[in-house]
Amino acid sequence: MGSAETPKFRTGDVLATVFTGTLTERHGDTVEWIPTPGRLLDWLAVNDLAVEHCSDAELASAYRLREAIHLAGTAAATGEPLPASALRTINEAARGGRACPQLSPHEQLRWRLGDSGAGCVDDALAVVAADALVLLAPANRDRLALCASPTCQEMFVDNSQSHTRRWCDMNICGNRSKKARHRAATRPPRSGA
Ligand SMILES: [Zn+2]
Repeated sequence: MGSAETPKFRTGDVLATVFTGTLTERHGDTVEWIPTPGRLLDWLAVNDLAVEHCSDAELASAYRLREAIHLAGTAAATGEPLPASALRTINEAARGGRACPQLSPHEQLRWRLGDSGAGCVDDALAVVAADALVLLAPANRDRLALCASPTCQEMFVDNSQSHTRRWCDMNICGNRSKKARHRAATRPPRSGA
């Protein structure tokens, strides 16, 4: 819905990189888009992995998985060996939940979480981890690249024919400097909401 109080999440086609994109500007003014258990629940719902409850410990697990994916993806994109500890974290997350894909004739692929269809955060994170492992597999690794923005450097999947895509998101990092100049010129004074 995206009111001023609930900023929209970044979206995309690749679940694992949408997830790593919940921490933006890692090398600049870092923004945490899932700062609370409630925000993680919101993010999961937006990405068709809705669950009912999230504890602080589960949020911490999500952060751990996210940064492991980021670390491993960055290594893969730069041709470095995948860090063993990050891979272990992702592998553990992938087998630490119960989730299976389900398809109906006229619907998108959906993930059934938990044994009874009512899943927990670990079940949802297992789906994200599995998506990351597919990206990190040798057959797909060559498509991983890092955003050219020095303050971002986020991993993304380059599906362009020429493998020349530069930005994690053209509308965000591609236009960042232009937008920054525009904002500086037009920023309204900050008053109460
Ligand atoms: Zn970027």
